[in-house]
Formats: sequence, C-alpha cells, structure tokens
Amino acid sequence: MIIAADDTDSMRGNCTTFLATEIINAMISEGWDLIGYPRLVRLNPAIPWKTRGNGALVMEFGKGTGEKEFIGNIEGKDVFIFESKTDEEPDMDFIRKLISPLVEKFHDPDYSDPGILITETRPDYSFYQRGVTRVMPREDVEKEIIRIGASKMEWGIGRGIIGCVCGSAWIPKDRTFELLAYRCPDKWGTKRTYDAKSIAEAERTIGSSFNSFDFRHGNVAMVPATPCPVMYGFRGDIPSDLIRGHDLIKTEKQYRWLIFETNQGTDDHIIKDPTPEEFIPDSSYSVEGRVVSVRRIHGGHTFVDLETDVGTVTAGIYAQAEEFRFVLDWLVKGDVIRVLGELRKEPRTLNVEKLLIVSLAEDRVKDPNPLCPGCGKRMESAGKDSGYRCRKCHTKAPVTYRAVSRKIVCGWYEPPTESRRHLSKPLKRMGEEQPLGMLLCRNPNNDD
Ligand code: ATP
Repeated sequence: MIIAADDTDSMRGNCTTFLATEIINAMISEGWDLIGYPRLVRLNPAIPWKTRGNGALVMEFGKGTGEKEFIGNIEGKDVFIFESKTDEEPDMDFIRKLISPLVEKFHDPDYSDPGILITETRPDYSFYQRGVTRVMPREDVEKEIIRIGASKMEWGIGRGIIGCVCGSAWIPKDRTFELLAYRCPDKWGTKRTYDAKSIAEAERTIGSSFNSFDFRHGNVAMVPATPCPVMYGFRGDIPSDLIRGHDLIKTEKQYRWLIFETNQGTDDHIIKDPTPEEFIPDSSYSVEGRVVSVRRIHGGHTFVDLETDVGTVTAGIYAQAEEFRFVLDWLVKGDVIRVLGELRKEPRTLNVEKLLIVSLAEDRVKDPNPLCPGCGKRMESAGKDSGYRCRKCHTKAPVTYRAVSRKIVCGWYEPPTESRRHLSKPLKRMGEEQPLGMLLCRNPNNDD
C-alpha cells in the first residue's frame, strides 16, 4: 500500500518529511514494513503557490520479503527497508485512523492545505511528468484518484492531494538520495549547533555527495535556516556513502535520521528545446540562443537578451546568485549560450539556474583615429561607415579594429551551492566542472 503526503508545512516550521518519519514510525510499530525507500519527490519548482521546495512524500508499506537494508534510526530503533512484499496489504481505513491524528498534530492550519493519498495502484507515470514540469489541474488529479480506486484525506482546501498523486506516480529513472537528520523537539526553532569543518570534510572525502558545502565561499549549504525540525540534509548518489557521511558529520544530539530516495539533482523539471507554443510561464526550460545585448540593473541583477527558436528571450540572473551573474557580464553580441531556468510571467524573464557557453564570438574594439600620412595630424571621422579623412590634406583611411582577448571560456556554469534549485542537476553529477572557478565582475563600479 502506498501512502503519500503533501502540503503540511509552512515557512513557520514543521516539515512534511518529518511527518513522513512519524507515519513510518507508526506503521512499523503496528507491524508493517517499509517496502523500498521512502521517497521525497520534488515537483514543479515554478508553481506560484509553493512555500519552499514543493516536495511530496511517498512511502510503500506491506509485509517485507527479500533483501533487507538499513536506512535510518527513529528514536533508538533502526529502520530497514525490504526489496519486495507478500500479498498481505494494510487496510485503508486502519491507515486513515492511524495517520489522521499525526497530520492534525504536525500540520500548520493557517498556512498549509494537506492532502494524504492511500493507494494500492500507482497513478499513471504521466502524472509525474506533468507534475514536475507543468501546473497540474486539480480535476485531472481527482479523476485519476477515482480511476485507480485510491482513498484520500484533505484538510483546508486539500491542495496537497495534487502533490500526492504526482509524487506517487514517480518511477525513478535518474535518482539521488538524501539523508535527513532531525533535531530533538526541545531545540526546534533555536540556533543549530554543528561542526562546519566536519561537513566540509564529508563533502570532500565522499565523492558521490553533492551540495553540502560551498568550497568557493567556505559556507555550509546543507543546514537549513528555517525553524523546521531538520538538522541537515546530506545529499548524494550512494546511500551507504550517506551513512558514512552521517558518521563523520558532528552536530548537536539528533532525534532521528532517515534516507530518502529523491528526484533532486536530476533536471527532471526541465523541458528541453520547447516549441513557441510550449514555451509558457510557470515551467522551466532549456533554450539555446545568440546574445543580442547584456545589461545590469539597479540591485546588481543582470540580464541578457537572446535570439532563440522561441523568439527573443530575456534571461536574468539575480544578485542573490552572487558571482554566477558575472558570467553574463563577459558575454558579447554574437556569443551562443544555452540557459536553463524557470520562465516567469511578470516580468517575462527566464530565471537562469545553470548555463552553457556554447561558442564565443570575436570581441573587437576600434583602433584610435589614425595619423594623416601627409601632415602627421590625427585624422577625423568622415561620417558614418565612411572611415577617416584629413581636412587639410584630403587624405582618407579606413576604420580598423583590433581583437580583444575574451576573459570567459566555453563550458558549463552554475550558481553557488546555496542558490541552487533542489531539482537542478549539479555539474558534479553531470561529470562537468566549471571551467573558471571564482568569476569577477567586469565593471565593479556598476555592481550595485
Ligand atoms: P516542501 O514540502 O518542500 O516544503 P513547499 O512547501 O514548497 O514544499 P508544498 O507545501 O508541498 O510546497 O505546497 C505545494 C502545493 O502545490 C501542494 O499543495 C501541492 O499539491 C501543489 N502542487 C505541487 N505540484 C503541483 C503542480 N505541478 N501543479 C499544481 N499544484 C502543484
């Protein structure tokens, strides 16, 4: 039986992943086993009403058979997952009664609209594809719930049910893992205590990990700043490596920890090379285009206009992405780049989350006005596109240019770790490396 939960949290605290650990604890205490990893499925990061990372939680329960794997610890009890299960299924009504009080206790009634889905049949995979890339109409989700014979529970307007259906439709193709560690309840909302050096060490020594520490800035990126129960999230490709990291990373006493299978760091939200009709706001795209112009606006936000197959696209990098925006500074007319990011409605800009410089045009500057070969005086312009002339000697000379060496090189560029989207595939996972480490601003006087 699959149980999915979404939209239980708010910016004030709580966290749907914590509710998931409560559900897992309750089901295991009732004699049921976890079948496969619990899943943290991120959906369309461009939907206007998400509070943070738009994540749905999906777990499968039954009577476990086959291989058993250690994935966490909840209040002193080790948690295992099973490879497969028997035909025995937990009763839907029993699950509803068990879960309701947990949602009541852990959701934020003012800022969340929880949904719970209980189903034996997975929704069609297309619901994941649409849920991660597009805005999904509630009616379509409701029809699918009826089609698969699922049971649902809702609080508030129950919008969470959309995430539940789309999240449980996920069949991992590319996938990663995240080990989430939780704080003791008496510490929730207080300052977190941890050893930053041990986090840097874990990221450096565990090759399959990503996004925990920003070596460019020397910042910890895996510890949230919100008042939620999460101590940290350690991300990577190999679950046993995450457990190794958990042993290395030093923090205040932990309440529980658990490994989730996720679609984070996969770029699943990106629609590549859309047609003009497909290129609509509230989704994320990958488009290639030729640079027309680059500009910096007040606040340090930087924009580039591109000629692309979907028309002229304005792509922007905001000051919060720090030195990542300086990549745009060094571009000139004629350069070809591929940008990946969310298309906003107002102003209609593509908010860049990663970019590839495909090719660089020649950058050139005009030579100074030449000297007259007759009198040796500086020649003057003879008018637009007419070169130079000397009034006195009536000599003429053409305009000449000199190539300027480019200070940027082709390759992939990404923002600092803390400014990355959950779903964005880090260069480390793409087997790429940013060709230039720390980028500088082209015109520091214009960086406000
Ligand atoms: P997190 O769980 O990481 O804190 P969040 O707080 O940003 O995520 P949620 O609280 O999950 O976001 O709220 C997002 C809401 O949007 C949920 O109600 C979810 O059902 C709904 N939703 C998710 N994906 C889509 C989609 N593609 N189209 C429409 N609604 C969606």
